[in-house]
Amino acid sequence: MIANPVPWPDGARCAVAFTFDMDADSILHLAHHTSADTRLAAMSMLRYGPEIAVPRLVELYKRFGMHQTFFLPAWCMERYPAAVDVILQGGHEIAHHGYLHEHPNELPSEEELYWLRRGIDVFVTMTGERPRGFRAPTYKFSRHTLTHLVNEGFVYDASLMGDDVPYLLENTTGRVVELPSHYALDDWPHFMASRDFNYFMSIKPPRQAMEVYAAEFDAMWEYGGLWIAVWHPFLSGRLARCVAIAELIEYMHQKGQVWFARLDEVAAYVQQLTQAGTWTPRVDHLPYYPGPIPELGEAEPTLAR
Ligand SMILES: [Zn+2]
Repeated sequence: MIANPVPWPDGARCAVAFTFDMDADSILHLAHHTSADTRLAAMSMLRYGPEIAVPRLVELYKRFGMHQTFFLPAWCMERYPAAVDVILQGGHEIAHHGYLHEHPNELPSEEELYWLRRGIDVFVTMTGERPRGFRAPTYKFSRHTLTHLVNEGFVYDASLMGDDVPYLLENTTGRVVELPSHYALDDWPHFMASRDFNYFMSIKPPRQAMEVYAAEFDAMWEYGGLWIAVWHPFLSGRLARCVAIAELIEYMHQKGQVWFARLDEVAAYVQQLTQAGTWTPRVDHLPYYPGPIPELGEAEPTLAR
């Protein structure tokens, strides 16, 4: 089912990463710059992430002896330094998720680079090192993102959805490892409900959401894939959902032969295999198109609407 499965370490059948994007209230300021300060209920819902959920999740990982990856907008690191400390003290990786959750593909290239670098500066100041990984806020990876990641020394990206196993993103500037996920493994479609974001899904019972995640896991286990959850502390870190997550982790442990890893470890492993010639990842050349496709030009306004 997977044309080019990865020889995972120690005979593992698949790799698993429970990644969390700690957006906190950055997304509210971005969506409603002039009125975010007046939206206190939404603010409290989002602040639940760094203040209540992150310490709980770190404790959960500790219980299972797992080290995982958290993606943080750098503004959230500045705003919630205690959450940063808790994450780092737990042995977890913090990776780059924009400065204020700005959307790269809606910005000119220079502006995208400005915010990326501003975020890197925060990482260096607060963690003593540059980030190794990046996930574009709201998956909005731009036509220029790869070039900026290569030039700024990133090892991997985790924004795209183009495979079931790691692959490489390449352009004329260089390459990074892509660690893909997809919407079935995101928690917004299962749990998000907020008038302030005009986003209302019918909220699933936690175990029903876990059925989707577990089905994805079972398939990855069977065929040698990479399972990456894209979850948010303010959503999945809620109490009943955390209980269900613990059950899912237990299920995975019981099934066995699973490599639980931070994404920087997965990326380093892919590089190691590639250099040794043990396994050759697929390569995606970016951008996919130099511009809008000519078949739908301005002469076809009805079709292109
Ligand atoms: Zn985010």
